[in-house]
Amino acid sequence: MAPDFDRTTALFLDLDGTLLEIAATPETVVVPPSLPALLEHLRALLGGALAIVSGRSIVTIDQLLKPFKSAAAGEHGVGLRFNDGTTEEMPAGLAVPDAWRDSLKELTERWPGILVEPKQHGFAVHYRLAPERHDDVWKAVRALVPDDHPLFRLIPAREAVEIGPRATSKGVAVERLMADSPFRGRRPIFVGDDFTDEAGMSAARRFGGEGLRVADEFKGDPALVRGWLAGNAERLSGGPLPERLPAGASA
Ligand SMILES: [Mg+2]
Repeated sequence: MAPDFDRTTALFLDLDGTLLEIAATPETVVVPPSLPALLEHLRALLGGALAIVSGRSIVTIDQLLKPFKSAAAGEHGVGLRFNDGTTEEMPAGLAVPDAWRDSLKELTERWPGILVEPKQHGFAVHYRLAPERHDDVWKAVRALVPDDHPLFRLIPAREAVEIGPRATSKGVAVERLMADSPFRGRRPIFVGDDFTDEAGMSAARRFGGEGLRVADEFKGDPALVRGWLAGNAERLSGGPLPERLPAGASA
């Protein structure tokens, strides 16, 4: 089981597959009603040093976890929000070629079940509903974004592939946030379930912290991640959490 943390920790938490169960489509994900309150409680205990680090945009992260808001990295680090609310976008102004948009639209028309999720600086192509299209999808996106493309790269995800800026990663996002208050000087713990989280975990280790894989530490179960967070929050608060915090989350 994952180790306990204390008030000098900085938490970096992936969202889908880590705090939330994976759903058939990104839109149908279910947020446990107790989760926003739990995160807010933890954020207060850690002096603000809690960040959501996701492939989703920060706008979507906020919508899902409403009314909770924290430091965040969206689209694998393309968008950053620091604890004081200031935001940063990197690399500024990098636009995806229009031809890619058209080409991906064509894929969704040709292959039912393929979903293209537009992002600020890229796309996610989901094939969860048509897993037999795995090879076709990869072939199609490789044709758009070759390995040596100077600005964009392909990012494998769970039953999806993303086209995103080469210059960013969850690791770069952790580094940027760790350079700023209240993260600076803390021991980071990054929790994630996916390939793109590995960069965030490596960054956390470079800062003397650790990376926890949901598959290894939590049996692949987001409910156990929430239970671990709730257990630590209770211990650090020196008593049970307020009642609106998670009966359901304490797995
Ligand atoms: Mg994930």
